[in-house]
Amino acid sequence: MTLLEALGRGIPDDRLVTDADVVASLSGDEAEWAHVGAAAVALRARTEDEVAHAVTVCADLGVPLVPRGAGTGLSGGANAVDGCVVLDLSRMTAVKEVDAENLVAVVEPGIVNDDLKAAVAEQGLWYPPDPASSPWSTIGGNVATNAGGLCCVKYGVTRDYVLGMRTVMGGPAGYGNVVTLGRRTAKGVAGYDLTALMVGSEGTLGVITEVTLRLRPALAGKPRTVVGAYRSLVDAGVAVAEVTRRGLTPSALELLDRACLTAVEDWKHLGLEADAAALLLARVDTPGEGGDAEAQAVVDAFGAGDPMFAMVSTDDDEADALFAARRLAYPALERLGPVLTEDVCVPRSALPTMLGQLEEIARRHDVTMATIAHAGDGNLHPLLITPPGDDAARTAAQAAFEEMLDAAIALGGTVTGEHGVGLLKRDGMLRELDPLAIEVQRGIKQTLDPLGIFNPGKVL
Ligand SMILES: Cc1cc2nc3c(=O)[nH]c(=O)nc-3n(C[C@H](O)[C@H](O)[C@H](O)COP(=O)(O)OP(=O)(O)OC[C@H]3O[C@@H](n4cnc5c(N)ncnc54)[C@H](O)[C@@H]3O)c2cc1C
Repeated sequence: MTLLEALGRGIPDDRLVTDADVVASLSGDEAEWAHVGAAAVALRARTEDEVAHAVTVCADLGVPLVPRGAGTGLSGGANAVDGCVVLDLSRMTAVKEVDAENLVAVVEPGIVNDDLKAAVAEQGLWYPPDPASSPWSTIGGNVATNAGGLCCVKYGVTRDYVLGMRTVMGGPAGYGNVVTLGRRTAKGVAGYDLTALMVGSEGTLGVITEVTLRLRPALAGKPRTVVGAYRSLVDAGVAVAEVTRRGLTPSALELLDRACLTAVEDWKHLGLEADAAALLLARVDTPGEGGDAEAQAVVDAFGAGDPMFAMVSTDDDEADALFAARRLAYPALERLGPVLTEDVCVPRSALPTMLGQLEEIARRHDVTMATIAHAGDGNLHPLLITPPGDDAARTAAQAAFEEMLDAAIALGGTVTGEHGVGLLKRDGMLRELDPLAIEVQRGIKQTLDPLGIFNPGKVL
């Protein structure tokens, strides 16, 4: 029996995509530099049963299965491997339950982050994790990558909001069986934390078909925005380190360099001025006078980097435009040429040193670099941009990319703060982690997926 026939036995024909162009469009994520294989077929699943059937068929026939949400990943995690089934979960979008009494939501994996936020907001609730891709990326993808975002500096990452899930697994569970993991209580320590293991597993251990999420009450009032402008990236890094040193926790602390501001302005004409080498944007969401004092404390800490100016914004439109620019920076830079995206994360005190080293490495390799950062987390996204078709520039950027990973490791940091390992950071991860920890990870993969069908070649 062919793969298509076997899939067709449990899945309606209209879910199966064989048109080469459509399959290709579902075969890659946003990591332009990562290899994309040739998928055999794409499946746009609508139910958990269809997912389970696909996993059973792939296990029986030894065919790789690559889950995908919206394909906004930046490490090649959702890229097809040759001969695989691409399993598109973006049509499983139901909000199954919002339990306002217990601050819990149960959703299908394909719901877009912003759509979930809007759905729970109707009941006065809030789902905090806010990757800059929140208008497009799915909760399944966010969970599978343990996505971070802007407000993580105060409210934590996706992991902190995942209570449980349903997952189609293999190994000891038997391929194609649905396993319920986790809980919906505020606390719970029954057995090994398999929910935590699935968070950030990048589709390599099973397919997430439902997620139980922790919510918070919606915030009241409008946050204050603090802006600081700096003559250099390192100066901005000094200011960020000072914010941490003083024990301040703004609800966002982002960095944008001049190249990002210019790229967004050239594209969207928001009226941004790009005089400074780097801008820091902080948000303070504490209500009332306490918030006023906190915002002023952030202004004071910003002073440590000898800013051109640092102030609480009094112009809501300007503040909104600056945060919009932060979210638009990546697509704006993509217009300039293929982008290789770093995601290094260092201890916050090491931020000025790391920013200096990034500039030095880019200069030495003669690579064009633009930097955005969740600076308050020490999470930096230098974006290496090469002219289309310039192989020499590409080789130089690749060398700079690896050196930046090594610089982060040397400062006690990690090669990926939030985007995941995927294809692009596999070598870097091997250099970062204890070799015995790598062996434990290989053991886990072997136990849970002995046939190696779940997103093979990613992470490990
Ligand atoms: C403009 C832009 C801004 C971004 N900003 C941020 C940011 O601030 N913070 C951040 O963390 N990331 C950011 N990203 C990266 C990306 O958006 C996140 O990694 C996001 O979580 C991916 O979600 P997705 O639905 O697009 O998943 P995909 O890219 O489709 O998949 C990502 C990974 O998850 C796996 N996967 C997807 N769904 C499932 C499932 N149901 N079960 C099992 N595995 C699954 C895939 O196999 C793949 O390994 C940004 C990307 C862009 C393009």
